[in-house]
Amino acid sequence: MNADQVMAAEKQYYMPVFTRYPVVLTHGSGPYVYDITGKKYIDYLAGIAVNLLGHAHPGLVAAIAEQAGKMIHCSNFYYTVEQAKLVESLAKLSGLDKVFIANSGAEANEGAIKLARKFGKTLNPDRVEILTAEHCFHGRTLATLTATAQPKYQEGLDPLPQGFGHFPYNDLAALKRAVSAKTSAVIIEPIQGEGGVNIPDPGYLQGAREICDASGALLVFDEIQTGMARTGKMFAYQHSGVKPDIMTLAKGLGGGVPIGAFLASDKVAAVFHSGDHGSTFGGNPLACAAANAVLAAIASEGLEANAQAMGEYLQQGLTGLKAKYPALITEVRGAGLMVGMKLTRPGKDIVENCMEQGALINCTAGDILRFVPPLNINKKHVDELLAILDKVLAAV
Ligand code: PLP
Repeated sequence: MNADQVMAAEKQYYMPVFTRYPVVLTHGSGPYVYDITGKKYIDYLAGIAVNLLGHAHPGLVAAIAEQAGKMIHCSNFYYTVEQAKLVESLAKLSGLDKVFIANSGAEANEGAIKLARKFGKTLNPDRVEILTAEHCFHGRTLATLTATAQPKYQEGLDPLPQGFGHFPYNDLAALKRAVSAKTSAVIIEPIQGEGGVNIPDPGYLQGAREICDASGALLVFDEIQTGMARTGKMFAYQHSGVKPDIMTLAKGLGGGVPIGAFLASDKVAAVFHSGDHGSTFGGNPLACAAANAVLAAIASEGLEANAQAMGEYLQQGLTGLKAKYPALITEVRGAGLMVGMKLTRPGKDIVENCMEQGALINCTAGDILRFVPPLNINKKHVDELLAILDKVLAAV
């Protein structure tokens, strides 16, 4: 198939839910991807913060190939070595006690919502409410798009599930007013991703912890985008020292192989009994082997430290561009390799022009250029992006 045939087939047979760029990607290597015409791009989108190790990472490829040759799937009716290793590693890394392996971020959040509701009801039958922050993003299933406090994801889908409420992000007084004896959980992204790389003030997560503790509500961190060393620590909450009762993961966990997880303390997980939750594919040995390889690479390749160092280098470079183009750029912010650059105008054409020049980036919340590359990039890869951005911004 050539590019036109691929696009025509998708147009005819694929549900029309995405606006796509007219590019057919075929393969990648490290932080680069190639399209069907052979054009090379440096990948600062990384599948939306997914390809932590870049493309075709030898360790990840070998782990997947080896596991595929042994067993791709079996039912959760049986134990597997791969799932046992993964849940032990995630529990030890996070300090939480129990783990459920799902297939995506939305599914991980669905599981977390179910667990929080069930826990809340053990305290009081009315304690069912789930509170989430404005501008959050938690997924596209009915419960998670209801949790996602943005009408654009909800239009035409009512009646929505009940028992969800919202509060302004980064405002402890508002959170305190929102939390009540009916609140089973408060779900927070330690840094909001889709909402625009929004970083709360120092002390915000600590304050949220205190408000939840005072009222008996659970604190849930959605680390689907921020987790797995993205922000320079394995989990973003580790920058603050505030531990959640439940945490959700996905995106980078499998390095590109679909997988999600929710983790909880023993006290909370104890309300789940046999039959309360499940998944046919969740925790299959292929996905778990991939996640185990990702965890091994994060440790052996020092990716927490590299994300921190390259993130600082990238922010320095972007800050230089901000000084050069003050009429276009108002702020550079981020943690590790989750970096946003706020524009004074919509960023859509800048994304398209970067693509034209050989760099994949995206724009979120309308005017925030977002950079979430693989965590194993080096300074040369950062310089390459900065040169393309400079050229594109100069032409605006
Ligand atoms: N939570 C956060 C913070 C996310 O950024 C996303 C996806 O962007 C999700 C949940 C949903 O994950 P998925 O698309 O894997 O369902």
